[in-house]
Amino acid sequence: MNQDSINKDWKVPYNYLPEQFDSREDIFSEWKKLAQTSEFTLGPKVKEFEENFAKYVGAKYCIATNNGTDALVLALKAYGIKEGDEVITVPNSFYATTGAIVNCGAKPVFVDVDSNFQMDAELIEKAVTKNTRALLPVYWGGSSPDMFKVCEIAKRHNLIVIEDACMGIGGKHKGIPHGRFGNIGAFSMHPLKSLNVMGDGGMLVTDDLEKYEWMSMYRNHGMTDRDHIKIWGVNMRIQPIQAIVATLELPKIDQIIDTRNQNAKFLDTELKQLVPHIKIPNRHSYDVNTYSLYMVECEKRDEMILHLKAKSIDAKIHYPIPLHLQDAARSLGYSRGSFPMAESQAKNILTLPVHQFLGTDQLIYMVDCIKDFYLRTKF
Ligand SMILES: *Cc1c(COP(=O)(O)O)cnc(C)c1O
Repeated sequence: MNQDSINKDWKVPYNYLPEQFDSREDIFSEWKKLAQTSEFTLGPKVKEFEENFAKYVGAKYCIATNNGTDALVLALKAYGIKEGDEVITVPNSFYATTGAIVNCGAKPVFVDVDSNFQMDAELIEKAVTKNTRALLPVYWGGSSPDMFKVCEIAKRHNLIVIEDACMGIGGKHKGIPHGRFGNIGAFSMHPLKSLNVMGDGGMLVTDDLEKYEWMSMYRNHGMTDRDHIKIWGVNMRIQPIQAIVATLELPKIDQIIDTRNQNAKFLDTELKQLVPHIKIPNRHSYDVNTYSLYMVECEKRDEMILHLKAKSIDAKIHYPIPLHLQDAARSLGYSRGSFPMAESQAKNILTLPVHQFLGTDQLIYMVDCIKDFYLRTKF
């Protein structure tokens, strides 16, 4: 494929997959070898990836799953979360975070977020009841909530911490990898996450051998061997063809995140000139953000996104409707006004392309288009 023809529809595309997966003989040759072995369910390629990833984040055990949603469900089930239990999470995540809790029969309880779009740890204790079993913080966009505070509260109330680090692969909070603070960390390798495969994939990391063994069984029908099951399980297995892609992409992840951070820094510096029209979250020097999403809040957001689309810049909104205001959340009893921060952010947030294939010219063009919008708009 000719590089010039890729993403020709957008001057600044959001989607980087055509570039990333163009001419990948390394993947195809590994797939060919796999085809010759016929190890299509679990097997050595899955094991190899699990070992590599556990090492990368400094965990004892890794279990690779079908996708990030399955990883969350498997984690919740491993810690016995069931009907009657409450799990505290945020109203501004992707649907899967809350969907996984509901899928286990438990009740999601939301706490509002801070100005950095992360779970506001100060609000957690007010949401704890006698039914609370777990905290499920999210590394939203690839940044981090105050995980030390989250874990301290969990300890005080004897709660499990399950981390939704689906967007956080390769990120760090005060030197500790995302997904390594609590009892268990869940990750996604969906094509738009920091470590991605050619389809779906996910994984969990933990240091808890007993949970690891239970999850290994549950992921694979509860089998101890071909003829015996110890528990009733399901099939949450990752595809070996995806494990192969993940193993090949893993060594590149730090470089990718570094490039995304450089792009984000450029955007931050330029967009700071537009305060107060644009509000940039606090960036902590002690954190490594994966920039799975580069998000800012901006004035006249809906007009701005139309302006950018008209200029052939593929900006997005993650997401325009908070979870507690979705139809699916009706029975939870929340209403407009329940989470003021998440609600006001939903009206103002904008996600800009920040990926590793953007050129300086594209970043400058994007910034110029945004400046142009505020300079010609009368306030
Ligand atoms: C992507 C994502 C998920 C779900 O992962 P899938 O692999 O798409 O199932 C869950 N939580 C968050 C925060 C995500 O970004």
